[in-house]
Amino acid sequence: MTSKNKVRQNIFFLIFVSIIIDKSCGFFKHAELHYRKHHRVITNETKQYLQFTYEDKNDDGPSHWPSSCNSGHNQSPIAYDLVPLLAASHQHPLKLIGAYNTRPKQVHVINSGHGATFSFVYQNNAVPQITGGPLHDDIYNFASFHFHYPCEHRTLKYRNRCNLELHFVHFNSKYQTIENSIDKSDGLAVIAVLFEETEWGQPLKSLPFLPMLHHIYEPDTDYSEIYHVFSYADALGFRTVPKIVSYKGSLTTPGCAESVTWIVVDHLFLILENDMDKIYKVRDHEGLRIKRNNRPIQPINGRKVYVYNDL
Ligand SMILES: [Zn+2]
Repeated sequence: MTSKNKVRQNIFFLIFVSIIIDKSCGFFKHAELHYRKHHRVITNETKQYLQFTYEDKNDDGPSHWPSSCNSGHNQSPIAYDLVPLLAASHQHPLKLIGAYNTRPKQVHVINSGHGATFSFVYQNNAVPQITGGPLHDDIYNFASFHFHYPCEHRTLKYRNRCNLELHFVHFNSKYQTIENSIDKSDGLAVIAVLFEETEWGQPLKSLPFLPMLHHIYEPDTDYSEIYHVFSYADALGFRTVPKIVSYKGSLTTPGCAESVTWIVVDHLFLILENDMDKIYKVRDHEGLRIKRNNRPIQPINGRKVYVYNDL
């Protein structure tokens, strides 16, 4: 055997060994977690609703999205500092209440083909809630959170530095369910948390849900975690609400219901590139990595945007 062939043989052997090690570690990791993962059954009806893309060259791209997405005048996202921000009252600060600091008994994640959505299962019907600030005395129950990249909401000060936007979706408890709330003008409240990708440095927020993502890289899969669970506040990254900007807008996916009180945290948190890479591995229905899932900026149309400072 020539020395060249010997080198080649050694390389093949090393690759073979690393595959075996990788598979074994994967097996033990899974055995340890006692994980539950399966492919969801998607009905034709759901499929139709989920059939939209973020590429405008496509027939189902943002400018072709149906219903309120095209006919509405209070659409989201917006570039919120294109208008002068109005100072809001400090009398009723937005606050986290209910089970916001409680660990759920289960964290669930699903890949819809447009990205990952996380939700919690609690004991005794406990639920994280928010109230005050732009929500006044109404109490909104937490439903789920998901993310968009790059960011949907924009500001001049962050320009193109905003790479990731987390949406924590809540519904007005007076309507009992999210389904009942979706067509009410005060039905939903979404907290948006913005991030900039960074190569170095200490990220300001830990993102405890990222380790779950590798279970749902394939579309229409879901996974439930019962051991490494984390609270709503851990996912949100704060317990006291920082400076926020608020306006009335819509969902940013079809059918773009104009039922959302937006609460955008006016701060650019840091996320490491390595962590963003985990998010970029989530795949769509064509088996391709989801490169972006952010809706373009919508006109403000005279809406008022309020800033809640130093609560
Ligand atoms: Zn969203």
